[in-house]
Amino acid sequence: MLTDQKILIAEDEPVSRLVLQRLLKAFTCISVTNGQEALDVIHQERIDLVLLDIHMPIMGGFEVIEKLKNSETTKDIPIIVITVNQSTEDEIRALDLGAVDFVTKPFHAVILQKRIRNQLALKLKSDLLEKHASLDGLTNLLNRRMFDFDLENRWAESQRLQANFSLIMFDIDHFKLYNDNYGHSAGDEVLVRVAKALMKTLQRKTDRVYRYGGEEFILIQFDTDLEQLRQTAELLRQCIYDLNITHDFSFHKRISISVGATLINAEQIQPIPYLLEITDQQLYKAKKQGRNCVSTITI
Ligand code: GH3
Ligand code: MG
Ligand code: MG
Ligand code: MG
Repeated sequence: MLTDQKILIAEDEPVSRLVLQRLLKAFTCISVTNGQEALDVIHQERIDLVLLDIHMPIMGGFEVIEKLKNSETTKDIPIIVITVNQSTEDEIRALDLGAVDFVTKPFHAVILQKRIRNQLALKLKSDLLEKHASLDGLTNLLNRRMFDFDLENRWAESQRLQANFSLIMFDIDHFKLYNDNYGHSAGDEVLVRVAKALMKTLQRKTDRVYRYGGEEFILIQFDTDLEQLRQTAELLRQCIYDLNITHDFSFHKRISISVGATLINAEQIQPIPYLLEITDQQLYKAKKQGRNCVSTITI
């Protein structure tokens, strides 16, 4: 499992670089020769550990640590500084900035290897924790906590890019009656099947679906127009209807969902709770209109 992890070596000195590459040949490593290249790689692929030299051309190690630690997406990548400089000030500065370890050259190969393994094991653990904390245990969809986090970020991003933004909220129809008549565990199975169908139906990479509440789900879409939004909402409604799960206690005689969707124009400046409330009102409208249907609005 550890070998799936990827290490970035940022070192301008060819011999040191080669020594590190040999030492870590059991791992997947990428090597770069300056700080800017290191940042470029990190923004393009998943890196689990950075071995970072301090003195490099174009951009040095301290600046790299600062940049990585200041970004939400890279702040958790562990950094081990490896340098010829034995200065206490440098060591303090590197650790203060957020490096996890500071190693001076010449290093003891076996000891360094063990330090690296320890950091990778910790990274694996924190990645797993992060994953569990972001997924809903029953459906494996992203959970409410992730939704709140993503919504804030994506809303800010859409405002920055002046892009339209939309929310699609949906809720299983007469699900209480389903539970009451078929049992709670049958209800759980329905939730799992619904979640799978939603994930299969959503093809765009940017579409992320979340379990918003008990039998409520929500989707964030980027840069859509009303027609696209209607199509997606309708596609979701249809894919659940097509599962054809018997529900004799619902008017539609099978499991269905009602969908409320809001297209938010780029120039709108509204607080997030307002956007959710408007979308919830559309969902309520779809319920009122007989369920198994879609209601959309543009604001
Ligand atoms: P409506 O069509 O108006 O949405 O009616 P409804 O019965 O679906 O709505 P209501 O809010 O009255 O009931 C929601 C039900 O969803 C009640 C609750 O027991 C069920 N539910 C919520 N979470 C879970 C879950 O994790 N598992 C199961 N089996 N049921 C759940
Ligand atoms: Mg150097
Ligand atoms: Mg509900
Ligand atoms: Mg419901």
